[in-house]
Amino acid sequence: MAQQIPSNCDPALVEIAREVCSKEGLDFESLTLHQTRGLMYYWCSTCSGTHPLTDLVILKKKKVCTHCDTPVKLYATSNKFGKLRRAIFFQHLAKAITGKKGD
Ligand SMILES: [Zn+2]
Repeated sequence: MAQQIPSNCDPALVEIAREVCSKEGLDFESLTLHQTRGLMYYWCSTCSGTHPLTDLVILKKKKVCTHCDTPVKLYATSNKFGKLRRAIFFQHLAKAITGKKGD
């Protein structure tokens, strides 16, 4: 497959990104590496870098970067992928919570 996915990305997150894209009528398979990174990664200004959405947690109703414990914004309206990125993050969160019920 010629899929352009960042190599260190969690396959579960990729699967969620694919689902959210198909719901929104976007062909995930045709996205470039830059675009898939835009969907599955967030920018942390404290770390001065990007991390996968799986490194973002909700603490006290804020999205917090697990690398530096600083609240970050997903900028849902910053570009056309912002809304999708937010949807992917919350879907990942919902699945993570559901997955823990079996413990
Ligand atoms: Zn950070």
